[in-house]
This record gives sequence, C-alpha cells and structure tokens, in this order.
Amino acid sequence: MLPVTTTRPTATQADASPALWRNWGRTQSAVPAEVIAVRDADDVAAAVHRARRDGITVKAAGSGHSFSAIAVPDGISLDLGAMTGLVHADRERSRVTVRAGTPLHAMPAILEPLGLAMPNLGDVDAQTLAGATSTGTHGTGLGFGGLATQIVGVTLVTGTGEVLTVGDDDPATLQAVALGLGALGVLTEITLQCVPAFCLEAVEAAVQVDDAAADFDDAVRRHDHHEFYWFPHTDVALTKTNTRMPAGTPAQGPGRVARFLSDEVLSNGVFAAMCEAGARFPGVAPSLAKVAGAAQSGRRFVDASNAVFVSQRRVRFREMEYAIPLEEVHDAVDEIRLLIDRRGWRISFPIEVRAAPADDLMLSTASGRDSGYIAVHRYHRDAPDDYFTSVEEILTRRGGRPHWGKMHTRTAEHLRTVYPRFDEFLAVRDSLDPDRVFANSYLTQVLGR
Ligand SMILES: Cc1cc2nc3c(=O)[nH]c(=O)nc-3n(C[C@H](O)[C@H](O)[C@H](O)COP(=O)(O)OP(=O)(O)OC[C@H]3O[C@@H](n4cnc5c(N)ncnc54)[C@H](O)[C@@H]3O)c2cc1C
Repeated sequence: MLPVTTTRPTATQADASPALWRNWGRTQSAVPAEVIAVRDADDVAAAVHRARRDGITVKAAGSGHSFSAIAVPDGISLDLGAMTGLVHADRERSRVTVRAGTPLHAMPAILEPLGLAMPNLGDVDAQTLAGATSTGTHGTGLGFGGLATQIVGVTLVTGTGEVLTVGDDDPATLQAVALGLGALGVLTEITLQCVPAFCLEAVEAAVQVDDAAADFDDAVRRHDHHEFYWFPHTDVALTKTNTRMPAGTPAQGPGRVARFLSDEVLSNGVFAAMCEAGARFPGVAPSLAKVAGAAQSGRRFVDASNAVFVSQRRVRFREMEYAIPLEEVHDAVDEIRLLIDRRGWRISFPIEVRAAPADDLMLSTASGRDSGYIAVHRYHRDAPDDYFTSVEEILTRRGGRPHWGKMHTRTAEHLRTVYPRFDEFLAVRDSLDPDRVFANSYLTQVLGR
C-alpha cells in the first residue's frame, strides 16, 4: 500500500500556501509535486519505486535549515515527521539507534535516561539528525569532529528502492553515506556513538579582535571547545570557551532562565531591532555594530552539555561558511577585516570562527585536515551586495571548502580539487543512485552529474 499523501508544509509551519516549501533563511522556495508522509523504510521504498515509475525525483525533508539549495524538492518531498525517536540502545557500547527524522532537540530526552550525550553539537538544535549529518554540520573543538563523525551505522533506502544497512564493518561505504548530502539514499535509521553525559563550564569574554585572531590556533589546542565572534566596524571580539566537566557538576552562574532572558533581550530582541534599523538606514549599521560589540560582556556558567552548546537564533539571517586549513585562519581573518574596511559595506552581523579536527569522511569539510571555519552572515532583509562573493574569493584562494548547507557558488570542477576523495564519493553514488532519483539542481552543481 502506498504511504499517505499530505499537503502539510515540511519546512515551516508558517507558510501561507500549504504546498509551498521555504527554508528557514528564506533563500530558497519550491512547490514539490507531492508531499508524502512516510512512517518506515517500506514507505520510503514505495515512494522511491513510484518516483522511478513516474520519472520524477525524491527529496527527504529535514527542518529546512540549510541556506543552500541542497534541500529544494523538485518532485516528491518525503515528510519524515513521523520517523522520530529511539529504536535501540546498546548500553555496553554507549550507542543508540534513532529514527533519522529525530530533531536534535529531542536527543537529550532520549540520551539522558541512558546516562549518555552526543559528544559535540552545533549552535542550534532545530535540525533533524539526518539533515544535520548529511550536510556536515559541526560545532567547535579540535578533539571533537562534526556530527556525522559520531555515526557508526545507518539504514537507508537507495535509489533502486533497496533497504541497505551499513555499519562500521564497512568503513569505505560508511565514510560516504554518513555524510551523503542526501545524494545516496534516504536515511531511515542512524546509529550514533555517544559518550557518558557531561557538563560544560562556559566562559565568555570580550577581547580585542587582534588578540582573538592571533591566539586562535593555540586556544583551540588548549581548550576543549573554543570559538570567537568578531563584530565588524569594531575592535571587539567575543570568545566562547567551553571546558568539559563530569556529569553532576553543580550548575553555576546565571541559570537557564536568566541566560535565556539575557540572550532573548540582547542576542534576539535588541539585535533584531538593530538589524531592522540597519536594513532601513544602512548608514547606521557600523554604529549599531559598535553598540552590539560593546554590549558583549563576560559571563561564566556551568550546565549540562546540550544546554551550553545550543542557543536560540530568532533573528533571521543568511550565512556562508568555509572550512580552510587551520593554520590559515589568522591571516584570513585579517584579510577579511581589511576588505570590510576598504569596501565600506555596512555589516550588522558578527563573523564566527570555529575549528574541527581532521576526519575520514569523504565529503566532510574537515576531510583529511584540521580545519578552521569562518562564517559570514547578513540580516535577511539587508540588500545583497558583493560581501559574500568577495569573502568567498579570499577563502577559496586559501583552499576553502564550503559548508554544504550554507550559501556558496562552488561547482564540481572546483570541489574535485579540494576534496581528495571526491571521485570515490561519485563512485558510491553511481552504485547507490545510478538513475539520480535523489538529484536536484544543487546536487548537479556540486557533484557534476
Ligand atoms: C539558525 C541556524 C544555525 C545553524 N548552525 C549551524 C552550526 O552551528 N553548525 C553547522 O555546521 N551548521 C549550522 N547550520 C546549518 C544546518 O545545520 C545544516 O544546513 C543542516 O543541514 C540543517 O538540517 P535540516 O534538518 O534543516 O536539513 P535540511 O536543510 O532540511 O536538509 C539538508 C539535506 O539533508 C537531506 N536529508 C534530510 N533528511 C534526510 C534523510 N532522512 N536521508 C537523507 N538525506 C536527508 C536533505 O534532503 C537535504 O539534502 C545552521 C543553520 C541555521 C539556519
């Protein structure tokens, strides 16, 4: 029996037209031919067979948090909203198997009763596990790779409708399907290697940006998790340093409610008003950035790991992020600062700098090299200019690899030169999706065919 067809919007509940799909950053929209709500691998396989019969494509929907066109559905959009939750826990090996549509914010409730946690996270938890891992979502910390490096097994439905389980006894295939861009199949279950639950001590400090950039390479080696934000048009950077502590370490500093209120007022409420003013009157953006930079004061707190890693991002923005060799970060930040001064753009959003260790996933932005990440943002209503293009030129020149889920203009021709295992990935794609059932125009752009 075919799965239920629904007209429920898959990316945002706020969309006016029921069939319209829009991503969070409002950079992409599409009307899929059909939305199918699936409950298990059999439903997914049935949808794949139907798509093959009708000559249309299939796209698994995550939470729509990619800024790039990677998630744009051309044909059938699969709604995995019912495919969430725990399937199996292997307490001895600290592993859990969860359904692929599980949102990251649901993971603590699954893991806490088992005394476990995910080893590292990015800065929000709205994404689905499959969406986040398929695009190489990462946090910061040279000892803790991106979310896809936590995967030790997956079950997926391939482009021929076969249900395939891949474990760590087949590392070559796992290194492709754990970070597959949605190009290799629809993941239905994901097995994660977790760690014992832990707390984090967070220290945030306002420093001179010269010092933050010069110290970055050392700081990411000294600390478990370290990053900084620089506010353009100012000399101020905010460093965030997290140190891992045993579970049960008493909470200290401002509590969750106080932190929420402070983040809500400063990072979301006031910042939203400032961005709106900057968009209407671009001339005031530098002064606003100075106010935002000056308002960042230091704080220290201890809490459960997920409560420290994750924060709320209510101000809508657009983002481009590149991974470059770690040792290039200092010079690249200096070059971007000079560029902004020279070009006179009005930038109200900070630049974010993070790090991740080399890993062995074929299309991970950290594949085979310790990496520094530089992310630039714009308020979603700010006029487009050549800010992203010019920063992209600097980062590409330094061997940069774009985040698959963020804005960029790279094509397969360039990406093959910065990913040593690019052709290996294409060979896996030829075998798992020979007829390109999971293609869309973004995948054709970045994979070539
Ligand atoms: C506010 C915000 C904060 C962010 N913070 C970070 C951060 O800290 N670090 C970072 O690295 N990135 C970050 N990102 C980027 C984000 O993590 C990625 O773009 C991620 O892919 C979004 O997950 P999603 O569930 O929304 O997936 P979507 O964007 O909906 O989909 C992404 C891809 O995954 C595929 N996919 C989804 N489900 C499946 C499945 N079951 N099987 C196969 N493929 C599937 C889709 O088809 C698509 O190709 C952020 C984005 C936003 C908007």
